[in-house]
Amino acid sequence: MLIRDLFRSDRPLFSIELFPPKTEKGVENLKRKLREIQPYHPDFISVTYGAAGGTRHTTSEITAYIHQELGMEAMPHLTCVSHSRAEIAGLLEHHRAIGVDNIMTLRGDPPQGESRFEPPPDGFRYAVELVREIKALDRFGIGVAGYPEGHPEAENYETDLRRQVEKVAAGADFVVSQFFLENRHFFRWRDDLRRAGVTVPVMAGILPAQGLEQITKFAAFCGTIVPASLQTELARYTDDPDAAAEAGLEYARGQIEELLAVGVDGIHVYALNRVKPIRAVHEMMAPNEPRPVGASVAQATTYLKNDT
Ligand SMILES: Cc1cc2nc3c(=O)[nH]c(=O)nc-3n(C[C@H](O)[C@H](O)[C@H](O)COP(=O)(O)OP(=O)(O)OC[C@H]3O[C@@H](n4cnc5c(N)ncnc54)[C@H](O)[C@@H]3O)c2cc1C
Repeated sequence: MLIRDLFRSDRPLFSIELFPPKTEKGVENLKRKLREIQPYHPDFISVTYGAAGGTRHTTSEITAYIHQELGMEAMPHLTCVSHSRAEIAGLLEHHRAIGVDNIMTLRGDPPQGESRFEPPPDGFRYAVELVREIKALDRFGIGVAGYPEGHPEAENYETDLRRQVEKVAAGADFVVSQFFLENRHFFRWRDDLRRAGVTVPVMAGILPAQGLEQITKFAAFCGTIVPASLQTELARYTDDPDAAAEAGLEYARGQIEELLAVGVDGIHVYALNRVKPIRAVHEMMAPNEPRPVGASVAQATTYLKNDT
């Protein structure tokens, strides 16, 4: 099923992102978790693609398991890292053969130990080039990444926004945002995209923090600001990982509540292969009551007050 068709429903989509484990035991463990996740009916599950070697083949194995064994929509990520055009063509052929309909189309992070992305010989330099290649096949739906606070390598926010618009114009069906910890960044960026003519759905990426050290590290890598309030809250639980994860989840719940109240095309949960945050977001998104779409923040605040 093409994910772009799912956005036609009158409710925000709920998707989750998982990563392929490194060991056979880890893969079996993730498959068990996927069976637990199945009753939460995510609209789709995306599976990340690692840097060269390692877990790359596992992305395909997990994708096939979700799709063929569990009957859920699965979207593998594909990156430009260390692939020639011919290899990309082969991978797309393989994805098609296992029933994949959508590809998360990315440039990718540099392999471990390398600080800069080097385009492979006879490969692609930017995600937009891969988007064009996949679009030309006319066989897959296309998701792309976006950065509410700007991509860390970009000259500035405005330049990155322009690149984002080009990526969508090249054929992306929808955008999934990098995680952000203050909704105002997402709202501003989405408004800027709309003003720049982007009409495709833009999903909000939410990463429930597991602890101060973890979120600080991730945020530094992704160029995401960690607000002082979250830092203070998580700092209270440096010796209690369960309490820290609960505080992180509570914070994410607050973000999602506001996003749903204001109106959003979808919530994409960076679940880091944990079931608990997926269950929590499912519980927030499952209620059948319609959510206002495109309401103002002021209206949303009223909505939230009436909702409690
Ligand atoms: C939802 C999501 C999923 C992800 N999944 C993975 C994954 O599975 N595997 C993985 O390795 N990484 C993943 N990443 C990380 C991502 O690969 C990195 O952020 C990477 O650095 C950029 O990828 P991109 O597709 O956004 O690249 P691009 O869109 O190519 O952008 C990369 C940089 O180049 C600039 N740029 C773009 N086009 C041009 C142009 N024509 N000329 C000049 N500059 C340009 C942009 O402004 C940006 O600074 C994911 C990120 C997100 C948000």
